Amino acid sequence: MIRDELLTQDIGQLSEISGIVANIERYAINDGAGVRTTVFTKGCYLRCRWCSNPETQLFAPEMSFFPDKCFGCKNCLRACPYGAIGDDLNADRSICRDCHTREHPFACTTTCYAKCRKMTGETMTVKQVYDIVKRDVPFYEASGGGVTLSGGEPMAQPEFTYALLRMLTERWIDTAIETCGYADKEDYEKVLPYLNTVFMDLKHMDSEKHRLWTGQGNDLVLENIKLADRMAGTYGNKLFIRIPVIPGFNDTAEAIDAAARFVARECTHVTGMELLPYHKLGRGKYYSLGRTYPLEDLTPPSKEQMDELNRILAGYEIPIYKF
Ligand code: SF4
Ligand code: SF4
Ligand code: SF4
Repeated sequence: MIRDELLTQDIGQLSEISGIVANIERYAINDGAGVRTTVFTKGCYLRCRWCSNPETQLFAPEMSFFPDKCFGCKNCLRACPYGAIGDDLNADRSICRDCHTREHPFACTTTCYAKCRKMTGETMTVKQVYDIVKRDVPFYEASGGGVTLSGGEPMAQPEFTYALLRMLTERWIDTAIETCGYADKEDYEKVLPYLNTVFMDLKHMDSEKHRLWTGQGNDLVLENIKLADRMAGTYGNKLFIRIPVIPGFNDTAEAIDAAARFVARECTHVTGMELLPYHKLGRGKYYSLGRTYPLEDLTPPSKEQMDELNRILAGYEIPIYKF
């Protein structure tokens, strides 16, 4: 929850607010207009079964192990003071889980020269993030790009997100957010005025199905879509509603039609919608975290199926975008 006192603080004060960042990716071209720098925050309240960024779900730092690159030197095994790594080089995750609270956190990662054992999640201040993203200002200016906040869920760290967006806005840097819509409504009210572009998910209109596949119902998401729409009318930011199309969850004409009907009926300031086909790119990350991939048998939707579902959006005269 964003404290009211932050609203009157100057940039100097806000720049000291810290958050946990999973990654900062430069030269991103699919996260909004132009060339962008994407700041992936760590922590999310949902647990979508198809999540392609599982390393961003927890709020704490985590260790990933990518065995493909490992050459078996066992430096990591010797470096871990907590005996978590076995001879097969797999780690006991019940020990690793609390490593961020220990005296020598993630010691295993510092001795891995192959960089196949690494830590995700670093506490950074707004100023530290800004100092990185500002290096790309010439690219933003040349391409109409800017900074995109993604995750994880940026709105799960609302004060950090608010402060960073204030900083970027004061420096005239274009701002965008990719958000699942599942966060405090009052926080969205405070943050949305500082965004040029909002990508908000609408995963399913059936709340029970939403809960089954993401861990939470959709009531709050639907409320926040309506709020974002009203605020887009006031502040003129672009609002895109995105649907990840997941086989067995929402890849039917009925599910997409219900979502499109909701947007057409409830929203008047939506710039467009985007259907994002399910992919398996995040699969390896689950195993690197010692988890199993929950959708191993799923096949991504075909181009023909995506075309068919996009035609449903077109039937509601909703502009279709592909970023
Ligand atoms: S994350 Fe911590 S507990 Fe786990 S292997 Fe590395 S140093 Fe040991
Ligand atoms: S330190 Fe890195 S390369 Fe060496 S065994 Fe551990 S994971 Fe493999
Ligand atoms: S909302 Fe996004 S980050 Fe969170 S679990 Fe779902 S896909 Fe992953």
